[in-house]
Amino acid sequence: MASLRSTFPALAAVLVAAGCAELKMAPVEEYPVTARRVILISIDGARADALPHLPTVHALTARGVWTDAMQTVLPALTLPAHLTMLSGRDVTQYGITQNVMDGGIAAVMRINGMSPMFAWAHSGGRRSAAIAGMSLIPAAQRAEAQAFFEVDTLVATDGDAPALANAAIALLRADTSVAIMFIHFPDADFAGHSYGWIGANGAHTTAYRAALARVDSAIAMLWREIESSVDAGHTALIVTADHGGGHGSGCNTGELATHTHCTAHPGDRLVPFVLVARDAAPGRLGGEPAITQVAATVGALLGLAIPERAARALDLR
Ligand SMILES: [Zn+2]
Repeated sequence: MASLRSTFPALAAVLVAAGCAELKMAPVEEYPVTARRVILISIDGARADALPHLPTVHALTARGVWTDAMQTVLPALTLPAHLTMLSGRDVTQYGITQNVMDGGIAAVMRINGMSPMFAWAHSGGRRSAAIAGMSLIPAAQRAEAQAFFEVDTLVATDGDAPALANAAIALLRADTSVAIMFIHFPDADFAGHSYGWIGANGAHTTAYRAALARVDSAIAMLWREIESSVDAGHTALIVTADHGGGHGSGCNTGELATHTHCTAHPGDRLVPFVLVARDAAPGRLGGEPAITQVAATVGALLGLAIPERAARALDLR
């Protein structure tokens, strides 16, 4: 499951013991597209080939930079993928391959100088917010998670996609100074684990498609809220995912291969990515875009200093 149990008190103790690895920041580079605010949406469990079934997001490809072939990390799991997406470092190369947050993970990240994009914003005097389901951040771990990720405002709700979108909209209205807002939609991953990403015929299951449609409607609400700000060049929107699913042979989760994920099969590993910003020339991204590049792209859009060792921002020229 996407559920991330956590032992943050233990983690905090390890952080103190591990000390503070020096984090060398690269000089801020000019980027062809800029924004005052970036909204980063992660649709948990959205396969790359789900894009046509996310009508709002799919329509945004006409005016955005996009790909249906962004590679996530291996194993293709929620926690390693999100830590990579938010830090710009492939955390699996440092042994972070489990799906449960604990003090060991925090220590590895700290020792290797990995920091989340929210910390980059913080260093640059900018505010950040994250909206996530309780499945990602259980209530008992909220305060510790907030401290670990250096996020100024953390909203964890037990609601589904519309509730998360409403929480995001309320926060955008209440705090216009937020520079980075991360929103995590768990619905499609839940549907995949419960009913399968794909059925016996190899096509998406009806339940998976229905969850995608629900998340897309929530993104449509959010888009209506921010569209004028995107048009004005103030806000940039990124929609991507942590992993796909439906090809989890050998993932050892006790689920059918069609009901889980972790492998290098394109169904598990490839995710969509769509970036909409006023000055981003629409088109399909070439090369081999990777989830490691998402964090630096957010940082570059905002003109933030980015750690030297983070993967480079996506080439938008
Ligand atoms: Zn999952």
